[in-house]
Amino acid sequence: MTLSWTVHELHLRHTFRISRSASDVARVVILRLEHDGIVGYGEASPTRRYGETPETVTAFLASLDLSRYESPMMLEDILAAVEAAAPGNTSAKCAVDLALHDWMGKKLGVPLYALWGLTPERAPLSSFTIAIDSTEVVRKKVEEAAEFPILKVKLGGDNDEEMISTIRSMTDKTLYVDANEGWKDRETALARVRWLKDKNIGFIEQPMPAAQLDDLRWLRERSEIPLIADESVVRLDAIPSLAGAFDGINIKLMKCTGLREAMRMIAVARALKMKVMMGCMIETAVGISAGAQLAPLLDYADLDGNVLITDDPFDGVRNTAGRLTLTPRPGHGAVPR
Ligand code: MG
Repeated sequence: MTLSWTVHELHLRHTFRISRSASDVARVVILRLEHDGIVGYGEASPTRRYGETPETVTAFLASLDLSRYESPMMLEDILAAVEAAAPGNTSAKCAVDLALHDWMGKKLGVPLYALWGLTPERAPLSSFTIAIDSTEVVRKKVEEAAEFPILKVKLGGDNDEEMISTIRSMTDKTLYVDANEGWKDRETALARVRWLKDKNIGFIEQPMPAAQLDDLRWLRERSEIPLIADESVVRLDAIPSLAGAFDGINIKLMKCTGLREAMRMIAVARALKMKVMMGCMIETAVGISAGAQLAPLLDYADLDGNVLITDDPFDGVRNTAGRLTLTPRPGHGAVPR
């Protein structure tokens, strides 16, 4: 089993601004796992919020020695070793998880959703993200996103009301709101939540900083709009403590180390009667296609990471007006263009 990787620079259609950062390019690491004449592809899209960069990803991958495993089919054992190699490094671990799953699907000749017995048509519509920007740019983005039935709006900057008012002057389609921890105290957060009421908001993601769990619990008691945890839920172990503070969780493969753990997170969230959403980072069709394999199990999907870039080096799941169409190709289905 040999691993090799390359760093890719992805270019965004528009500067992507959220409450804590802005970017025009995203650097991802594409992992190639080859064994027995079959190649599985994985991806890491590292973010500084979780302590990773392309350099930490490649250093982690270089530290792995998987030579003692006879086959990528030994997924459970291999991923246990990858997990034990170092703490953190979740997107790097995700790259290995995705490549192993892709390899397994290709070896068996089936798409992953079929391997898991999922019906692709059950996937919820994916939202399309509008980042924080000037009124002029927001108008342009809303026009560009005309075909998408659900928009996800980044708030938590200093122009929340302007962002929402601009969009609402153009369309009444469902909006998901993501504050990215931008509302720093509970009174501000509650005022924003109340202002958003009756504006056809599907849910609000991470209204306040993850560290303020008591405030989040206080807010949820007063919010009529469902609250979804994102920055508060990195991995499986965080979920039980969030019941009562959030109505649901946003799973991201790059935070949770991949498909293996994502499936366990879905099971735990369901046991706690929480909603399940899957989001993404800026990713190529590798990461997005892998996540989309689990879409039939979700309440909400926000898998638009590769729609926001101009130069996706892979072809995989299609996103047409928010409808995710999985390819019948084996594995996660993303192949180099
Ligand atoms: Mg979010």
